[in-house]
Amino acid sequence: MVREIVVLGSASQAPTRTRNHNGYFLRWDDEGVLFDPGEGTQRQMLFAGVAASSVTRICITHFHGDHCLGLPGVLQRLSLDRVARPVPVAFPASGDVYIDRLRHASSFYDRLDLRLQPVHAGLSDEEPVTVEDVGRWTLRAAALRHSVETVGWRMEEHNGRTMLPERLAEAGVAGPDVGRLQLEGAITVEGRRVTLDEMSVERRGQVVAFVMDTGWCDGALALAEGADLLVCEATFASAEADLAAAYGHLTAAEAGRLAAEAGARRLLLTHFSQRYPDVGPLVDEAASSFSGEVVAAADLARVAVPPRRTG
Ligand SMILES: [Zn+2]
Repeated sequence: MVREIVVLGSASQAPTRTRNHNGYFLRWDDEGVLFDPGEGTQRQMLFAGVAASSVTRICITHFHGDHCLGLPGVLQRLSLDRVARPVPVAFPASGDVYIDRLRHASSFYDRLDLRLQPVHAGLSDEEPVTVEDVGRWTLRAAALRHSVETVGWRMEEHNGRTMLPERLAEAGVAGPDVGRLQLEGAITVEGRRVTLDEMSVERRGQVVAFVMDTGWCDGALALAEGADLLVCEATFASAEADLAAAYGHLTAAEAGRLAAEAGARRLLLTHFSQRYPDVGPLVDEAASSFSGEVVAAADLARVAVPPRRTG
C-alpha cells in the first residue's frame, strides 16, 4: 500500500513559471485526499498521474483563492468522469457560502454526490476535532491562526501490533492460529496459553499533518504532534518575519521549530512566496532548528510518508 503526498502545486498567492498554485494529493492506501486545490489543479493532476477518479475526499483549509479556486474544475471533472460514490468535502464551517459558490461556479451536468462536512474548530479548543473515523484511521482538524477562518488537518492511523515471527515459531503458533490470536488476544496452543502481547510489539500508526496558512499557534502544534510527515507552509524567510506576522504566515524557521517541538520526522516545506526563486535558504533555515529531514516541495514531486516506527 502506498502512502505519499503528491505535490500538485507549491506556490502561495501568485504562481510562478515553476510553481503552480497550491494543491496536494495524499495517497493513503485506497483513499485519495485532495488538499487545497488551487487554480490549475485539474491539469497538474494529469501531469502528476493522479486520476480524478482516485480522489475520494477533499479537504480545504480556508477560502483564500490560492487554496480553493481549483475546486470548480475538479468537481466538474469528477462529475464528467461519472464518479458515483459520495465525495466528502471538509472545510471551515464559516466558508459555506464559498463552497456553495464554487460548487455552482458555472453550468455543468451535476452527477456529484458531494457530502459537505463543515468543520467547527476554535482557536481555544484543547485538541483537534474528529471529522471522520473509519476505524483504521481518523481524520482530525484544528483551527489555525490566519486572517480568515482556517483549519489544518491530521490523518491519523490507529495503532496496531506487529507480529514477531521468531516468537510465534517458538510457541508453535502457525497458520490460522495467528489470525485467531490477533482477533482474540490470547489462545491455547498444545495446552499452553499464548498472548498477543508476548507475540507482538506495538506498532504506532502513521500520521500525516497538513498545516497551511497560519501564524504560530497551539492548533498547528497539536496537528503536527509526532507526525511522520508534516506538510507545512513556509511562505517567508526570517528576513521577512514582519510580513509573516502581519499576514498570518509562518517563516521557514518557524516551520522548522514547529516540526522540532511537535516531534515530527519529515518536514515538507511548501506554499512559497514568489519572491524566492531559490528556496534552498528556506530549507537551511528550517533545518537549523529541526534535526529531522527537511524537503522543499517541488511541483509534481512525490514525498513518501516515512515507514512506521515500531515499539
Ligand atoms: Zn495561501
